[in-house]
Amino acid sequence: MNAKDWSRHVIKQSEIDKYLINGKDFIDETSISENLAKSANPDPALVHDILKKSLEIKLLSPQETAVLLNVKDKELWKEMKETALEVKKKVYDNRIVFFAPLYCSNLCVNSCRYCGFRCDNKEEKRHVLSTEEIKNETISVINEGHKRLIAVYGEHPLSDADYIADSMSTIYSVKCTTPSGNGFNNIRRVNVNAAPMCVEDLKKLWRAGLGTYQVFQETYHKGRYAELHPVDTVKGNYRWRLYAMHRAMDAGIDDVAIGALFGLYDWRFEVMGLVEHAHDLERQFGIGPHTISFPRMQPAPGSFISQNSPYLVNDDDFKKLVTVLRLAVPYTGLIVTAREHAELRREIIGYGCTQTDASTKIGIGAYSKQKKQEENIEKVQFLLGDQRSLDEVVRELAVDGYITSFCTAGYRCGRTGDKIMNLLESGTEGKFCKLNAVLTFREFLNDYASPETRIVGETLIEKELKEIEATSFFSEKQLLPTFLSYYHRLAAGERDLYI
Ligand code: SF4
Repeated sequence: MNAKDWSRHVIKQSEIDKYLINGKDFIDETSISENLAKSANPDPALVHDILKKSLEIKLLSPQETAVLLNVKDKELWKEMKETALEVKKKVYDNRIVFFAPLYCSNLCVNSCRYCGFRCDNKEEKRHVLSTEEIKNETISVINEGHKRLIAVYGEHPLSDADYIADSMSTIYSVKCTTPSGNGFNNIRRVNVNAAPMCVEDLKKLWRAGLGTYQVFQETYHKGRYAELHPVDTVKGNYRWRLYAMHRAMDAGIDDVAIGALFGLYDWRFEVMGLVEHAHDLERQFGIGPHTISFPRMQPAPGSFISQNSPYLVNDDDFKKLVTVLRLAVPYTGLIVTAREHAELRREIIGYGCTQTDASTKIGIGAYSKQKKQEENIEKVQFLLGDQRSLDEVVRELAVDGYITSFCTAGYRCGRTGDKIMNLLESGTEGKFCKLNAVLTFREFLNDYASPETRIVGETLIEKELKEIEATSFFSEKQLLPTFLSYYHRLAAGERDLYI
């Protein structure tokens, strides 16, 4: 089947209609605009009440979110940033989870005006990784020290659900012997960023061991969405994309990741859209998003709009939107990526981000060929702001007091979906994570850290060990002896022990 015919069969209207309420979707632009307009110049007392609610780890209402977005006072913003970090510490403590994106294909049937992969960009060189190439890419990513991947695919019949499921199995099959020869390292969790799919296709990914399924709405504003996504493409259907996560939930995938591409439309509106999305998932499934991403549009080869959109977000507004998202959806993971330049990324992590990437290569096949983006410009979707190695970023964060975690235990112990939401809201998951962060950081320091990173890392891990030994929760729950035994076994060369 050619790509055009294939595209005609992707959208299943019944898998949109079943989620509508009275024929309407959950993005009511009038209500968003009214909420934003009526909360201009908010009373500081009201802002303080809202911050208290965030600290109770409760999802804020759209009205409350609009109030925070309208704060003008510098001192109040300072307080909001401090509270955002407090919220993060309460839920996730001082850990930061690392992942690597793995671009598997850049063929795409769509033509989004801001994207280097769009089908009418003739400058782009197209490729779909073969099984062998995926293995080589995976080996390179493992040898940087990574344990989790987000595999990224364009929307095309050559990278359909069957291809995605097969590529996930290939990634999981790769094992690299550790330097001590006493175990092996591997990718323990594969997340996927791919086009919206029908429930039947999503079930295929679930069976292949999908971790989190990620789809960004790009922009929640319907008019702007229509301008950027030609109507005769699959992606031109706003609602098919809007309900991608609802279908994922129905397919049994309970860790879903939402996001917006900031710079396409007004940033305050997009924050409101993300919060409305979280509310609708909670309303219809009782589970909010596992993570939220807020990539800022970066220059994309062959795309005029990527550098000239009237809505590009400056650094100050970017810091504000991250702060408000942290406060508005306190239980969710927040992802800041290597799109951002190093200093900003470092600062943003201090407003409550929980996940980031490093040693990132977004060219197709670029990890195994060790290509920098400048050498691969015709195979990338956009340009990165930070190309530092995992080792360098881990070291920088360790200096700032953040422990790198490669933990994937929660998923493998069934702590997903509503179970993890409850644990996150009560602060219990953070405790398990602390143990697993130390265990996986031990593995990294032994196997991949440079001598400089090891020096900083050992000091940090000693501090963490002392905190764990002094925390009554761990001894009361009888977790301490198991943890200490695992820690010493890992230090001696065993791998993949988790709680
Ligand atoms: S943004 Fe995604 S769907 Fe749109 S052209 Fe790029 S790869 Fe294709």
